[in-house]
Amino acid sequence: MQTTPVQESDPPVLAEGPTIREVLESNGMARRDFLRYCGFLTAALALPQLPYREAVAAALTAKPRVPVLWLNGQDCNGNIESLIRSGSPTPSELLLDHLAVNYVELLMAAAGSAAERSRTATIAKGGYVLVVEGGIPTGASGAYCTVGGRAFTDIVREAAGKAAKVISVGTCASWGGVPAARGGVTGAVDLQTFLGPSKRIIRLPGCPVNAVNVVGTIVHFITFGKWPSVNQNGLPFFAYGEEIHEDCPRKDYYEDGKFVLAWGDEGHQKGWCLRKMGCRGPETRANCREKKFNGGTSYNIASGAPCYGCVLPKFWDAPGGLIQALPADDEGDDD
Ligand code: SF4
Repeated sequence: MQTTPVQESDPPVLAEGPTIREVLESNGMARRDFLRYCGFLTAALALPQLPYREAVAAALTAKPRVPVLWLNGQDCNGNIESLIRSGSPTPSELLLDHLAVNYVELLMAAAGSAAERSRTATIAKGGYVLVVEGGIPTGASGAYCTVGGRAFTDIVREAAGKAAKVISVGTCASWGGVPAARGGVTGAVDLQTFLGPSKRIIRLPGCPVNAVNVVGTIVHFITFGKWPSVNQNGLPFFAYGEEIHEDCPRKDYYEDGKFVLAWGDEGHQKGWCLRKMGCRGPETRANCREKKFNGGTSYNIASGAPCYGCVLPKFWDAPGGLIQALPADDEGDDD
């Protein structure tokens, strides 16, 4: 698959302050847990423990947190909400231990003009990672989404201009998602479309994005001094390289032609294939099965629901909609 090289024109990240290990220790992480923690991060990057766990540990010991500006556009805030839900270590711990988040509306204590000053000061300094969540509503000259009286479109363009790297989290920022679906009135577009080809971004789609993939992307930069390899659309291979269908626990049923045909039927109770209930596993590449959600508890297919293909472009407008069953004559073998 074609890969996109790291953009050479991006300004450097201006990381400063205590090292990440110092932050971890000040937050109560015992020294004996540190290597286990680094092993978790190494696995998040789909790298072998040897020799990479040591490399991750060395980087976290030596390097400060990455400065981040996090902007929310037209979305449900589902991505950052999912990041602050439980787990051990919690996704929010994972995120905040590695990032110096200078501006994030949902989590920051400051509000109003104080919050505005924080964002302005961060942009003036430059050298931060810009994370954008939500679609970019371009209609009505940006009037559908304003922050502090300014159009969100203006803020995003200004912030992207001085960012060391730009990352879209969630499907709305990565592909337009629900705001850009059929019937939308705000003129929402995805971040890459809005910024244009001169500013290449990393896309981390998902509804919501898996927190492990956000942290993995940052930890890759901290450890190796470069961003992870991405496909032609800007999606990192470590997170979006494997087909959901390939290692699905229901695949034997798929190959035997045993499909769930109605919610709660015999096949559903026995864990048969969900293809005829709208499963898009054969079209979708993501690490949901491996990393799971809710602190590594489960994911759609293991819980009896189909893969909705939420990391895909236009997933909301997919033929048949989200949960409508595929035609009865689709045996799945022709995909
Ligand atoms: Fe699993 Fe879906 Fe593939 Fe069936 S179609 S085997 S449920 S990924």
